[in-house]
Amino acid sequence: MRRQPIDPILAEEPEAPTRLCDHPGCAAGGDFRAPRSRLELNHYYWFCLEHVRAYNLSWNYYAGMNDTEVEAEIRRDTVWQRPSWKLGERYGPRPPHLRDPFGFQEKFEQAKAGRRAHNEARDPAKRALSARDQALAVFDLEPPLTAAELKARYKVLVKQHHPDAHGGDKAAEEKLKIINQAYATLKATYTN
Ligand SMILES: [Zn+2]
Repeated sequence: MRRQPIDPILAEEPEAPTRLCDHPGCAAGGDFRAPRSRLELNHYYWFCLEHVRAYNLSWNYYAGMNDTEVEAEIRRDTVWQRPSWKLGERYGPRPPHLRDPFGFQEKFEQAKAGRRAHNEARDPAKRALSARDQALAVFDLEPPLTAAELKARYKVLVKQHHPDAHGGDKAAEEKLKIINQAYATLKATYTN
C-alpha cells in the first residue's frame, strides 16, 4: 500500500487513501488492482478488498467474444502459454487429445523426418559413390560402361595380375583380390 508523505500537522488524522475504490459509491481505498478487460490487461481498476473480490468473481475474460473467438483464444493460450509441454512431446507420442491448431507438431515431425532421411542417405550414398569410384580406378575405366566392356576389362586384368603369372607372388594375389572386389562392385552398378 502506498502512503502519502505524512504532513506533521495532519499526523493525528486518519490517512487519506491515495485513490478511492473504483466501485461506484464506495469510499474505501482502492488498494487492489484488477485488469479492466482482456484487451486492457495493463490498465487497471483499483478496488478495495471487498470489491476486488467481487470483481474477480464476476470477471469474464471471454466477455464480448463469440464462440469462434473464444475457441481461438483458448487455442492460442494452449499453444503459446504452455509450449514446454505442448511442443515438448518430442520424446514421446503426442497425446491424441492435444490439439495442434497451427501444425507446429506436424512441422516439427516433418523437419525431424527430413533430417533423419538426410542423415541416413548421406553416408551410405557417399560410401557407395566412393566404392564405385575406387573400383573404376582399379579397372582404369570411366563411365558409361556396359557389362560386356566391364567383363572384357576384367579378363585382361585377371590375366595381368594372376598369381600364377607371377610365380605365386603375394602382391599379385592381393592385387587380384582387389580386382575381384572392384569387379563385384562394378557389376552391381553396371548391369544391362
Ligand atoms: Zn470498494
